[in-house]
Amino acid sequence: MDFERHAYDVVVVGAGGAGLRAAIAAHEAGARTAVVCKSLLGKAHTVMAEGGIAAAMGNAWPEDGWRVHFRDTMRGGKMLNHWRMAQLHAQEAPDRVRELEDWGALFDRTPDGLISQRDFGGHRFARLAHVGDRTGLELIRTLQQRTVALGVDVFMECTVTRLLTDDEGVTGAFGYWRESGRFVAWEAPSVVLATGGIGKAYKVTSNSWEYTGDGHSLALQAGAGLVNMEFVQFHPTGMVWPPSVRGILVTESVRGDGGVLRNSAGNRFMFDYIPDYFRKETAETEDEADRWYDDKKNNRRPPELLPRDEVARAINSEVKAGRGSPHGGVFLDIASRRPAEYVRRRLPSMYHQFKELADVDITAEAMEVGPTCHYVMGGVEVDPDTAAAGVPGLFAAGEVAGGMHGSNRLGGNSLSDLLVFGRRAGAAAAEHAAKRSGLVALAEEALTDAARAALAPFEREGGENPYTVQQDLQQTMHDLVGIIRTAPEMEQALTRIAALRERVAALSVEGHRQYNPGWHLALDLPHLLVVSECIARAALEREESRGGHTRDDFPAADPEWGRTNLVCSRAADGAVTVARRPLPQMPPELAEVFEEAP
Ligand code: FAD
Repeated sequence: MDFERHAYDVVVVGAGGAGLRAAIAAHEAGARTAVVCKSLLGKAHTVMAEGGIAAAMGNAWPEDGWRVHFRDTMRGGKMLNHWRMAQLHAQEAPDRVRELEDWGALFDRTPDGLISQRDFGGHRFARLAHVGDRTGLELIRTLQQRTVALGVDVFMECTVTRLLTDDEGVTGAFGYWRESGRFVAWEAPSVVLATGGIGKAYKVTSNSWEYTGDGHSLALQAGAGLVNMEFVQFHPTGMVWPPSVRGILVTESVRGDGGVLRNSAGNRFMFDYIPDYFRKETAETEDEADRWYDDKKNNRRPPELLPRDEVARAINSEVKAGRGSPHGGVFLDIASRRPAEYVRRRLPSMYHQFKELADVDITAEAMEVGPTCHYVMGGVEVDPDTAAAGVPGLFAAGEVAGGMHGSNRLGGNSLSDLLVFGRRAGAAAAEHAAKRSGLVALAEEALTDAARAALAPFEREGGENPYTVQQDLQQTMHDLVGIIRTAPEMEQALTRIAALRERVAALSVEGHRQYNPGWHLALDLPHLLVVSECIARAALEREESRGGHTRDDFPAADPEWGRTNLVCSRAADGAVTVARRPLPQMPPELAEVFEEAP
């Protein structure tokens, strides 16, 4: 078939933090490297990150160190995290931040000139390195400049639709240019998936159009497993009003910097929702909580800074009990607690976001907020040290990879995750490619098949439009596989997903291949459906409540499930299967960390 072809050692799919960090590492290891991304370079989700990068640098608290960060991360994930990933992450994050600084990132400073670190939920010490509330922008700017300066090839506005494999593993990838609709293929012995998450499977989300679960689905199709898919993080504070901006994130830094949550009666309701698991380290009274901001040594943390799953469930309960705000959220108040100048300086993006999108001045009035689908803990099952997925030559890093965050991610731990494992994935991908150099070739039949599949929506006539199918899927996931779940609802969701699959197989798109968003969505929909099915199947199987998975019919955490992972795979007939696997065992010297004082 006649279309554009390229040959590289390593192809990185995704140009967020994980993809760019992987590309830099692969290039530095001597691999001919390309990055492919759906949108313009610099437009990934990473750029939207506000709060900061979690790293136990000890700048704000000399007592901080990797062991405390490791402990916080495991406890935040309710001990379901892959211990080795959590260990590597905590140990290596400080070096990754310092390296960014060496490459030109300008972090906020402490009065004595160190990188400033801020408080975030679930972290024992203030440890988020940040740049105001625009940390992701600085991170992506720095990585992007370095990637381009090193001479890594970038394919922008180009979507990968298939991974190509032979009996030995990965041989490359296939995709199309979004603008022209023309096809392109990359021959490469190593492919790194860095495609981010799945937020667009849900109706209310902080994620943008790019998060359609492509990498999760491509990996599954190529034969890799997806672990922990039942765990979806609903960030407690998204905008709820006006409807056009519902779901847009309100950073946790608002609470870290003194903001509190109140219900319609004006009560700081989080004090009513402190779980026993976190009671020892959480303030019991408003006075103690307020003192903590000035004297963190002698006071415990406010309950507003409990891990996200706890806060999201509490907000959900308040709204359900009829104590919500006028537009179905609760109030987040920093106006009555901090001077206007402080709020504008510490939270400039939030100030402008509310002013411009909701006509609310957050220095004078409370915000209305509610849970929004934010992050998927589940993802491609990888080897912790190399980020290698089950298929030789396939690697995954960043949000698309699973295991690191267990059942719930702590804020700030994603930016550090993608730096630590992006680098590891890039280096391992280069090493694998060096061994397979000259041994891979693209099979013509596989290319023809990929092209035929991509063009299928044009071949059908009179079918449904892809947007209505997406809306129905988002409503299904919102209503039936959301924050609180039950078996009958998830069974209903699976029936609906099966019906949606038939509708996708029959839908048609109009027009031609040049910049045709309807066609693009038609190609994204099978990815969204398969990740939604994985979430629903795994969530139905896990009969307990833990982290980002709450079952109304099994409200308690179950110790047996605390030793069990669920892994989704694709059977030969294309069906999604879910298998139970024992959780990797933590070595005794690491288990000792949990005996140490909180
Ligand atoms: P991304 O940065 O999303 O990049 C994905 C890339 O993959 C994009 O380039 C996309 O175009 C590309 N892609 C996807 N599919 C394809 C395909 N089929 N073909 C080609 N390219 C493809 N985390 C923190 O740690 N701290 C924070 O303060 C923080 N704040 C956040 C605020 C917001 C509003 C949001 C949404 C998230 C926040 N997070 C934060 C989470 C964090 O930003 C993300 O988890 C992280 O940036 C994901 O990075 P990534 O490199 O894995 O993916």
